[in-house]
Amino acid sequence: MSLRYDLHSHSTASDGTLSPAELVTRAAQQGVDVLALTDHDVTDGLCEAQATAGTLGITLLPGVEISVTWQARTIHIVGLGIDPDNTVLQQGLASMRAFRDWRAEEMGRRLEKRGIEDAYAGASAHARGAILSRTHFARYLVERGYARDIGQVFKKFLTHGKPGHVAGEWAALPDALHWIHSAGGQAVIAHPARYKLTATRLRQLLGEFRQHGGVAIEVVSGSHSRDDCHAMANYAREFDLLASAGSDYHGPEQAWLELGKLPPLPAGCTPVWSGWQQTAAH
Ligand code: AMP
Ligand code: MN
Ligand code: MN
Ligand code: MN
Repeated sequence: MSLRYDLHSHSTASDGTLSPAELVTRAAQQGVDVLALTDHDVTDGLCEAQATAGTLGITLLPGVEISVTWQARTIHIVGLGIDPDNTVLQQGLASMRAFRDWRAEEMGRRLEKRGIEDAYAGASAHARGAILSRTHFARYLVERGYARDIGQVFKKFLTHGKPGHVAGEWAALPDALHWIHSAGGQAVIAHPARYKLTATRLRQLLGEFRQHGGVAIEVVSGSHSRDDCHAMANYAREFDLLASAGSDYHGPEQAWLELGKLPPLPAGCTPVWSGWQQTAAH
């Protein structure tokens, strides 16, 4: 029997709205056999997720999604099968979180100048002690009526050139890959079609990623269209990369997205899980 994989998801440890236990429970209810929890720059949710998975007979693969700056753009690299106790990984992630903390305060100051009060405090209330993400600012701004939905907040306030946007440096690509590999993980480029790179630049990224030991790209993603999936499948074949599949689930508020409800990988792709032991309960 083929297993159902969802290898990209978020919990309240970063910018998801379900706790790790709630997320894993929902994944099991949706028929997912193998779920990767891949919170942004943090592994705090893995322990609780693992404990819940153990009681439900679903396999929880420890993961993380690392923010990278590549050619002045933000790229996300997912690490799958990481050891969260690895020091190299944790030191790297700690540096990402230090930047996040500073950035969040700076975002608060910039929004304040535009007459939006208490954004830092409001975002912190949404984050409830977890890392601070732009998503938390977006939720606060929607709550205060500055935009009608999260997408609008990003467009009006939080993207390049907008009042609440703070440029800065995330990890360098080779560093992020080094952290993942040190922790025994496999590196995967998250939602590659979302960066809107030209074919030339995407090829450059795939080449560098592979050169530094990256092994897979998300061919199937919650944020990919059908055409994106097929285009990414072709790139995976061209660069001899494995194919991953993940919803990038952030919670039930994204009503159009569900855990594990992903189209199959296009023919000719080698799944990233092809080399894994069959660990699921069924
Ligand atoms: P950060 O890592 O704090 O810069 O925040 C990035 C996160 O914001 C992503 O992981 C998404 O969850 C969310 N995000 C980014 N762009 C958008 C958008 N246009 N609409 C909704 N959410 C977005
Ligand atoms: Mn996110
Ligand atoms: Mn991402
Ligand atoms: Mn994600």
